[in-house]
Amino acid sequence: MNPNHSAGPRLRSDVLSRTIMTSKILRTIVGMFILLSWMSHVSAQQKYDLLLKGGHVIDPRNKVNAVRDVAIVDGKVAVVAAKIDPAEAFKVVDVSGYYVTPGLIDIHVHVYAGTGERGSYAGDNSVYPDGFTFRAGVTTVADAGCAGWRNFEDFKHKIIDRSKTRVLAFINIVGQGMRGGKFEQDLTDMEAKPTADMALRYPGLIIGVKTAHYAGPEWAPVERAVEAGTAANIPVMVDFGTNHPAERPLSELVTKKLRPGDIYTHVYSGLRNEQLESGQVNPALWEARKRGVIFDVGHGGGSFVWRIAVPAMKAGFIPDSISTDLHIGSMNAGMKDMLNVMDKFLAMGMSIDEVIQRSTWNPAREIKHEELGHLSPGAVADLAVLKLEKGNFGFVDIYGARLRGTQKLTCELTLRGGKVVYDLNGMTRPDWDKLPRDYRRTGNARWDGVSPAQSTTNPR
Ligand SMILES: [Zn+2]
Repeated sequence: MNPNHSAGPRLRSDVLSRTIMTSKILRTIVGMFILLSWMSHVSAQQKYDLLLKGGHVIDPRNKVNAVRDVAIVDGKVAVVAAKIDPAEAFKVVDVSGYYVTPGLIDIHVHVYAGTGERGSYAGDNSVYPDGFTFRAGVTTVADAGCAGWRNFEDFKHKIIDRSKTRVLAFINIVGQGMRGGKFEQDLTDMEAKPTADMALRYPGLIIGVKTAHYAGPEWAPVERAVEAGTAANIPVMVDFGTNHPAERPLSELVTKKLRPGDIYTHVYSGLRNEQLESGQVNPALWEARKRGVIFDVGHGGGSFVWRIAVPAMKAGFIPDSISTDLHIGSMNAGMKDMLNVMDKFLAMGMSIDEVIQRSTWNPAREIKHEELGHLSPGAVADLAVLKLEKGNFGFVDIYGARLRGTQKLTCELTLRGGKVVYDLNGMTRPDWDKLPRDYRRTGNARWDGVSPAQSTTNPR
């Protein structure tokens, strides 16, 4: 029982007024306290949403290769500096001991999944991008020609518009895209005009024209792809298909047919005279490189061979861009993911900053997205936090041959547009036993792209 109930009216009003007074004072004090802490909170909070502290930043475009703090606000890189005050950030993550790089850019993938078409890269041979990208530090991919002008908008609707990964596309010169042999060998469906028109309808999204898998001896697929690329002012990526050294030799492709900025992918496949009988790099590749033709890895399930790559690397013929050629036939084979392909170049003696350059800034330039692939202030905050593990590792080519190595990259954390979209070991998360007994979602929408809480009062 409340003792006030038995007290007289006077006593009760006395107690009441004292209680009101006390609560008024308390409210004022609490109010002032809240105001003060809110003011300091705001000034500290509002500057940066997220601070990655103490990581080794590799940003080849800006020639940064040093321990740096990275502050992010509104989805963009705000500052990269030797020391940024943690008090200025809403959320601070200690990334010392890790590499911090621009989000990786993989310009050769196959992600037109979900159509239900069997045996087709515009279908079952493709994979959904989000399941493969963020866990490998990749934030941007370019689909390498799964769709042509006839089905590009379906691809956009089914995949591009629904993925968290930034998905760009090389449009296939074949109107039906990579729907299989019947379509991909049909010269009548390789039209420059509608291909260029579709590319011009989606500038920045369609970033190139692809020709691939052609088995015949004609030059038409390459010529029409270049014609479309010229009309739309975008590069062409070539998978040179079946080797026809007499009718359409590699040397003529790279020194005459392709323009500067066009991309020859699968450069270490050895399937089309990239290497001479003597073991030398085909001199046409050197000549083409001088002309500005780009050479891309495109590992895939059939296009990366140690006996081709190792001598080429020793001779100094290094790739301009590193890419996976991700699809169902490569994802669990010699190729594992973007980091695995990068590891292979580390294992062949390429330095970490050169590997990062060929997985960020170089591909960004190749696809004319120079706003990506670096950490300049104002750039979209797509970042990867990578660990370079030391140990005994093995790296497997498409024929199942192994090359041993001592370094391996793993992805700890991936940010897409300033939000955490992958966090392998929970480096951004609080320990469960330090949270309230009834804890629910612990993140905040200012930095958490996975499961942010609605309220900002949740633990930082
Ligand atoms: Zn491919």
